[in-house]
Amino acid sequence: MKLKFLKLTQYRNYEHITLSFHDEVNVLIGANAQGKTNLLEAIYCLALAKSHRANHDKELIKWDADFALIEGELEYKYGVMPLSLQISSKGKKAKANHLEQGKLTQYIGHMNVVLFAPEDLNLVKGSPQIRRRFIDIEIGQISAVYLNDLSNFQRILKQKNHYLKQLRLNPQGDRTMLEVLNQQFSEFAAKLTMRRHQFISQLEEKAVEIHSGITKNEEVLNIHYQSSLQREDTLDALTEATYLRLSESMDKEIERMASLYGPHRDDLTFSINGIDVQTYGSQGQQRTTALSLKLAEIELINEEVGEYPILLLDDVLSELDDTRQTHLLSTIQHKVQTFVTTTSVEGIEHETIDQAKLFYVDHGH
Ligand code: ATP
Ligand code: MG
Repeated sequence: MKLKFLKLTQYRNYEHITLSFHDEVNVLIGANAQGKTNLLEAIYCLALAKSHRANHDKELIKWDADFALIEGELEYKYGVMPLSLQISSKGKKAKANHLEQGKLTQYIGHMNVVLFAPEDLNLVKGSPQIRRRFIDIEIGQISAVYLNDLSNFQRILKQKNHYLKQLRLNPQGDRTMLEVLNQQFSEFAAKLTMRRHQFISQLEEKAVEIHSGITKNEEVLNIHYQSSLQREDTLDALTEATYLRLSESMDKEIERMASLYGPHRDDLTFSINGIDVQTYGSQGQQRTTALSLKLAEIELINEEVGEYPILLLDDVLSELDDTRQTHLLSTIQHKVQTFVTTTSVEGIEHETIDQAKLFYVDHGH
């Protein structure tokens, strides 16, 4: 899929801007703090209805304005689709094909993006929360069902934690409600866990091959989904096993006022040649692992959606050495529309620059 044009109104440091893009590589060049990342972020928001870096939506609205609007036109295998996202203090309004989408979970997935930003290097080394977020965003892009299950799960988790606190304060209280919540919790926890196992094994298959290509067959990558629930072959078996576990752990969960088992406690681990990357990996190995994951994601989205996603590279190209840069560029060549930000064209392969459309970003213009 390709983003043909983008129109921003009162978004970050952009008052009004309309840009039309090249089907292959688009390079956004500019000094620091001019609005390069803001542009990539706008494309990301148009796809996922939220920013990858803002804590609050209102940060996206230009300081003196009361709303921000991102509009774009996506060309995909069935034609052209206008998309828009409006952000105001009242919330977000998303439209696909000019039709307002009742729920954001319905909207997400029309446009697929893969973002690779400097902070993605934390994917391997950072907290488990970063890896869970990665999993949720990536599955969410390709599965509306997953997004729905996830939002149900989060709602139930919140209710359950609330009840655990109440029962801790009042140990003689009625536990029937907790039992009901545990039942619903088990159902969604099992769904999310099964889907995550499946996703990670698909992703691993692709990432391993890519990683071995980048390292010239010297390194064998392994990715493991570490679940706090026991492994079961079927959804029903996992739901049942989870419910049993929660019933047995009721006293403990009340005592700690926390839900101790479920996908919100899970993690991913990476190893290279059998050695844990999180603990022992060099910076280069962590970087290669993160890059392999992102490239694998591109392939996986293509497999699931039937079309390549749009790739957003924020300041990473010049940070990769020649081998990694070549690998990245050969993966995307002619198939993946790419947006690259950089402060200078030095350090980016000449061939890429020659074929690219260049945009000079200067104080939001
Ligand atoms: P770098 O090369 O340092 O990464 P950049 O070109 O990627 O720079 P951006 O992060 O895109 O920079 O833009 C940052 C600029 O946008 C800052 O000057 C910041 O003050 C401005 N900015 C951020 N949010 C808003 C907002 N809501 N309204 C107006 N300006 C904003
Ligand atoms: Mg930037």
